Amino acid sequence: MAKRRIVLIGYRGTGKSSIGRALSKKTGLGYLDTDQLIEDTTGKKIPQIFESEGEAGFRDIEQHVIARIPSGAGIISTGGGAVIRPANVQMLRMNSIVILLTSDPDVIYQRIHRTDRPSLTGLSPREEIEQILSERMPLYRSAADIVVDTSMTTAEEAALRVLDKIENGICDPQKRRELFASVIKTDIPSGEKIHLKRISDDRDIFLYGIFGYPCMHSKSPGIYNRLFADYGMPAHYTWFEHPDPGAFLQSLPNTGVRGLSVTIPHKEAILPYLDEIKHDAESIGAVNTVLIQEEEKFGFNTDWKGIYRPLEGTEGDTAVILGAGGAAAAAVYAVSMRGFTPVILNRNRDRAGHLARKTGAETGVLEDIGKFHPDLVINATPVGMGSDPNTPIPPSVLHPGMKVFDLVYTPRDTPLLQAALAAGCSVIPGTEMFIHQLAEQFRILTGIETPVFRLREMLA
Ligand code: NAP
Repeated sequence: MAKRRIVLIGYRGTGKSSIGRALSKKTGLGYLDTDQLIEDTTGKKIPQIFESEGEAGFRDIEQHVIARIPSGAGIISTGGGAVIRPANVQMLRMNSIVILLTSDPDVIYQRIHRTDRPSLTGLSPREEIEQILSERMPLYRSAADIVVDTSMTTAEEAALRVLDKIENGICDPQKRRELFASVIKTDIPSGEKIHLKRISDDRDIFLYGIFGYPCMHSKSPGIYNRLFADYGMPAHYTWFEHPDPGAFLQSLPNTGVRGLSVTIPHKEAILPYLDEIKHDAESIGAVNTVLIQEEEKFGFNTDWKGIYRPLEGTEGDTAVILGAGGAAAAAVYAVSMRGFTPVILNRNRDRAGHLARKTGAETGVLEDIGKFHPDLVINATPVGMGSDPNTPIPPSVLHPGMKVFDLVYTPRDTPLLQAALAAGCSVIPGTEMFIHQLAEQFRILTGIETPVFRLREMLA
């Protein structure tokens, strides 16, 4: 662990500088404070920089300074807003362990209310603390590996706590071995079994995985592990094939599992076991991403972003969604956010009605497609997957000017997309959803924004 950098993040007044110096003394590692580096580089105090350059100018200088920090072992404390820019998180995560320091807002107020830092919001100092903490907490959580509450500690005590976490706290090897024993019983590749045995006692490596039943078909492990290697993150992503969300989540404390991608059939069933669910996931009624921090589990839905982003620039009135399962729910949410009126057509009419109750959408069965004149058609059924030669709707209903988005992504050129192209429609393949939902999921689980073209290359 000593070969890695220790990076301290968190809001002002949580003790980053004093704890950083205490850690430096205890470990003998060098200490850098990004705010101090900014002042040294510019020859100005931070309030002066805010006054002359504004917050955006300050953030540019901060990014420039962070880019110049060496990636070797050392202790780095960062400014409270450093995590706002994913590029900073990417640089800070390289070969590091990132510690989030938190404190009670009242304690923060007592510690900082007499400082000369400029207000960022124009609110009273106490209100500003509340507001900025609530805005930044999701960013802090994504960017951090470990959390240490410093409300009731001296810098010395907090430094000892950080060291204890680093040396002993990431996982209990016995718990990790038990988790891996259940994973190794599943049908994972033999190379993965060997790798898991190798890292079963390793307290430095954080774990992530795809959680579903079945989920062995998932391509996410290959992509995530390449991204972790690219970004110098001490982490490994594997397959967690398990039938029961409650029992599986109960087995995770002290195993070092930091995040999950959730797939069928658990996207809805996992909701009751989570501590906090983001409002869009709550509206959709499904979670495909879980961030785990100090045994707290935060649920997100990135599937809808995977549909929303490729529809950038797509305009029209009516969007027909084929299917009424989890992917269809995300599609209804995404097209509504793009200003379309959704229509849900499903093999089972009652299920379409159930989904529509939440959204007020019109419904029908697949055969009703001829009654609507959609600008956009989204296939959220598995029809056309693998070697299935069928299309969920007859090619005769496809017309030039329509856009067809098939969420099925194996094969890439599905029978529906081929029929749509032949009919003069424009098309979006399901690989685009996969890539965009994964990019958003990676950002939530690590704080790093990865370019979608890299993911496209990896999937090719
Ligand atoms: P789901 O919850 O199981 O829902 C499946 C839906 O498809 C149901 O509405 C079902 O209708 C319908 N359906 C199933 N077989 C059908 C058939 N033979 N003919 C007509 N309708 C049929 O599954 P999901 O999670 O929503 O996923 C649906 C599909 O989306 C997946 O198969 C996958 O290909 C795709 N997907 C893609 C991505 C991506 O990243 N590109 C992500 C997630 C999902 P009933 O209600 O009548 O059973």
